[in-house]
Amino acid sequence: MRSVRKTFGESLVLREVDLEVAPHTVTALIGASGSGKSTLLRCANLLEEIDDGAIWLDGEEITDPRVDQDAVRRRIGVVFQAYNLFPHMSVLENITLAPRRVHGVPRAEAEQRGRELLERLGLGAKADAYPDRLSGGQQQRAAIVRALAVRPRLLLLDEITAALDPELVAEVLEVVRDLKEQGMTMVLATHEMAFARDIADQVCFLDAGVVLERGSAEQIFHAPREERTRRFLRRFT
Ligand code: ADP
Ligand code: MG
Repeated sequence: MRSVRKTFGESLVLREVDLEVAPHTVTALIGASGSGKSTLLRCANLLEEIDDGAIWLDGEEITDPRVDQDAVRRRIGVVFQAYNLFPHMSVLENITLAPRRVHGVPRAEAEQRGRELLERLGLGAKADAYPDRLSGGQQQRAAIVRALAVRPRLLLLDEITAALDPELVAEVLEVVRDLKEQGMTMVLATHEMAFARDIADQVCFLDAGVVLERGSAEQIFHAPREERTRRFLRRFT
């Protein structure tokens, strides 16, 4: 992202945001509620239109008005905080929907791939269950499977553990850790500071729509340069 600006009516929510994400790395967005983390992720996925600046994906400027936005979104997987799964569909139906409808993958192939992914994320037995039969942690893991089912180039995760009971957080973070090991490129907004410190190659601290400070996890968590970053991090220690 280069000099990205985003307003909602009168309020300037992202100002001059520069962000570079290298392939196969994990970027953690941290910052207070309302600092712009979700908006940044939504802009990256073209769910929100930016007012100024530009965004590239794999060298292509995706904010160019001539670009096919649906084609771009197909290359990006997104998981939100909650309510990710369609309640009236089984887990397998949920995760084969996009590959079949959007990518034209034949049902048998989509289902086979879906079952493999579920197996890999420890949800093999839940393929035919409906979401309300799953724990919150299982639902989020299934939502991650659904995002992965279209083989995205980039995965955006927006506080995916925030709505979970504490005892269910670890199993979801474990999945993210596995994905990192497999080389998935991810940008995640999170309040799990220990996790961010552990997994992120790059940490960005957002403050009122500005990337106030960025650096390695080591630098941001152990030697933050900005007073505001220090003040924010103190809340978690
Ligand atoms: P975070 O995810 O860091 O909590 P958000 O990106 O959700 O922050 O919000 C950043 C700011 O943008 C907040 O002030 C929020 O109220 C505002 N905002 C977000 N979405 C909208 C919207 N659709 N319309 C108006 N204001 C919005
Ligand atoms: Mg948010």
